[in-house]
Amino acid sequence: MIADKMKPMMENSSVIRAMFEEGMKMAAVYGKENVYDFSLGNPNVPAPDCVKEAVLEVLEKEESTFVHGYMPNAGYEDVRAAVADSLNRRFGMDYGPENIIMTVGAASGLNDILKTILNPGEEVITFAPFFVEYASYVKNYDGELVVVPPDTDSFQPDLEAFEERIGNKTRAVIVNNPNNPTGVVYSEETIRRMGEILERKSREIGHPIVLISDEPYRELVYDGAEAPHIPKYYKDTAVVYSYSKSLSLPGERIGYLAIPKSMTDWEQVTAAATIAHRILGSVNAPSLMQRVILRCVDATSDLSVYERNRNLLYGSLKEYGFQCVKPEGAFYLFVKSPVEDEGEFCQVCKKHHILVVPGTSFCCPGYVRISYCVSHEQIERSLPAFRAVAEEYHLL
Ligand code: PLP
Repeated sequence: MIADKMKPMMENSSVIRAMFEEGMKMAAVYGKENVYDFSLGNPNVPAPDCVKEAVLEVLEKEESTFVHGYMPNAGYEDVRAAVADSLNRRFGMDYGPENIIMTVGAASGLNDILKTILNPGEEVITFAPFFVEYASYVKNYDGELVVVPPDTDSFQPDLEAFEERIGNKTRAVIVNNPNNPTGVVYSEETIRRMGEILERKSREIGHPIVLISDEPYRELVYDGAEAPHIPKYYKDTAVVYSYSKSLSLPGERIGYLAIPKSMTDWEQVTAAATIAHRILGSVNAPSLMQRVILRCVDATSDLSVYERNRNLLYGSLKEYGFQCVKPEGAFYLFVKSPVEDEGEFCQVCKKHHILVVPGTSFCCPGYVRISYCVSHEQIERSLPAFRAVAEEYHLL
């Protein structure tokens, strides 16, 4: 009954989800406060007040047939204009509403742009470790994901290895900055050099390579770090954004795809991406949430909570002897497993009621991901358990 193409996807289906379910079972046995679930990237900071106020205002003041009705597939014109203006103010760009397609979160924006540009057999390059769904999204359009191995000293992209992997079949590159699962922020210099490589290689192979910048964590940066706006450094860049993390709205499924005027054939690309959005079944992004974004376009949740969590968890894990690059963004720590098989390390953590995700899920064995988008109290309560794991491995 199941299509051949679905079978491998079912086999590989999310380890992260399985961990989450495991966490719920453990919570039922040991009590919720005694299980330290760091597996999911589900923000625990509430959405800002302006979201609730906007929902109420929309429902009270805007006409019901308008708010709940069909609309252009790219989304409401005034919402797209507000997003474009916000990007222009922040990054000195020249977006108009015609450059923005409202999407069903970042997942939908990624699928829209991949469906728009990818022919069967063409290659999409990404950097390990990466958000595991990229592999499925590329497969959706019969593309091939080509993975650049990680530089585990810094987790910055290895640009030499990247350049070596670009060939005639390369159609696109996906970068995710700030990064899930490492929390690393790629610097302006890295992005500039990546842009130069892509310009040179696009000329060499005779077609433009599209850089897809997946940025759901753009606002989650610490210590003065900033995620560069990549279209300023490479003209054929499509930006995929989501409000899931910055406004703590993952279940509401709202984001956008921005295609700048610098992109080759941008009008055609935008028209095709709008059709892709429709025929993939999304039709249009959730209407009520679009009306909310119009009112909250520059707002964020209280993101300082994540910085506080990072400081406590990173500082403590280093003190206990674990190895980890200090993250400057997102809400993840990517910690080196004290033993080669990080699956075994995950089991030891589990014995101490700590749930973390193996790096194999991100194409980077030997590491585990810890999501610190949890309550500060959970981190405080979990520290003796982390210390006990460190003692078991004689790290202390
Ligand atoms: N890209 C990355 C790197 C992510 O971490 C996530 C979600 O965690 C997504 C895309 C999907 O985001 P959304 O839930 O907005 O579709």
